[in-house]
Amino acid sequence: MNFENNLAFAQALDQQDILREMRNEFLFPQQNEKPFIYLCGNSLGLQPKVTREVLEVQLNNWQNLAVEGWFDGDSPWMFYHKELKKLMAPIVGAKPSEVCPMNTLTVNLHLLMVSFYQPKGKKYKIIMEAGAFPSDQYAIESQVRFHGFNPSDAIIEVKPKEGEYTLRTEDIIGAIEENADELALVLFGGVNYFTGQWFDMPAITKAGHKIGVVVGFDLAHAAGNVPLALHDWDIDFACWCSYKYQNAGPGGISGIFVHEKHFTNTSLNRFAGWWGYKEEQRFKMEKGFIPELGADGWQVSCTQVMPMALYHASLQLFEKSGFINALRTKSKTLTSYLFYVINEVNMKLGEEQFKIITPLTEEDRGAQVSIIAKADGKKIFDQLVANNVLGDWREPNVIRLSPVPMYNSFEDVFKTGELLLTISQNLK
Ligand SMILES: *Cc1c(COP(=O)(O)O)cnc(C)c1O
Repeated sequence: MNFENNLAFAQALDQQDILREMRNEFLFPQQNEKPFIYLCGNSLGLQPKVTREVLEVQLNNWQNLAVEGWFDGDSPWMFYHKELKKLMAPIVGAKPSEVCPMNTLTVNLHLLMVSFYQPKGKKYKIIMEAGAFPSDQYAIESQVRFHGFNPSDAIIEVKPKEGEYTLRTEDIIGAIEENADELALVLFGGVNYFTGQWFDMPAITKAGHKIGVVVGFDLAHAAGNVPLALHDWDIDFACWCSYKYQNAGPGGISGIFVHEKHFTNTSLNRFAGWWGYKEEQRFKMEKGFIPELGADGWQVSCTQVMPMALYHASLQLFEKSGFINALRTKSKTLTSYLFYVINEVNMKLGEEQFKIITPLTEEDRGAQVSIIAKADGKKIFDQLVANNVLGDWREPNVIRLSPVPMYNSFEDVFKTGELLLTISQNLK
């Protein structure tokens, strides 16, 4: 599309946007009695208006039914997760039986590694991307130590080429092949939190499987952002959080994916708990763990009803938006427009004040643009916030701007560019 850098053009795109009404479903934070242009949905999604209502239903159930709420009422808590599974599955391209809401993300990463990181003899290493989200680094380091290995030996990090910010798929695949004899697990992010790079998940999975190794993904920045086909891509396991692109509130519940081919694999270790027990027999309270078939069999503790209600509310908005396809169509154009607008700012300034480190190609990124200012990055970021544009700052030098198709407009993007230009001009 031939973009134009003016308000009328941005507003015309908003007029044509079939999802334009969706932003009315959300509550925007305010400053100086004006709503923020919120470009931080990659960190914490906005609160849907319906959330309070959905939560209230469960508060009422608790009030009116108390313990009977587990089995009585319109939607007994015992089976509440099943309503979420139906809505989660299309977001990640899975069968409902392959997904389950439970715990929080890093906890699930640990639980899934208990099952899927099974070092044997020479094959004990894990390959991951360099610069992964710190929680993932710590989880993987501690898992490796738990098995008696040294992280600096057992973890292989794939790094960008000198002078580059993002990884090349051929380098990832090359590293997997090179270490074939020693790998026990390939564990990558779906979309990198810092650069916004969306890795070629099917290619990475194929490369791992070709050498007989299990492949898992942390989809914190991918789920609800880019279209996924976890089942068809034959990914072994994955987990994500619900509070970034999926708007389920701070500390929101996590989701897991386990491919159905592993459902009856009894050689997988599990850290078990009563909620993963076979559903019909769970309340017989018998000795000896028998897992429920499917992702549900990885549950440990009883249903977190309130966090699930928060997730449920926002999943209903995904359903209303036609799940991920319509969102992705808008997202591609919206984020491309942000690339364009930032380049326009550079052009008007007569120099590359803002270096974009997120891949430009649509297949290599989602709804995030990471920029590095040539100078005064933190100052520019603070002034954006002071002027009602909320992105986020990531040390040491990156401003992340994330136009979310569910609630951001083309006008938001245009105005952000305008503001970046004014701030930069006034710095001189
Ligand atoms: C946001 C994020 C986390 C956060 O983990 P929590 O356990 O939810 O605090 C972990 N990993 C990645 C890749 C993330 O982007």
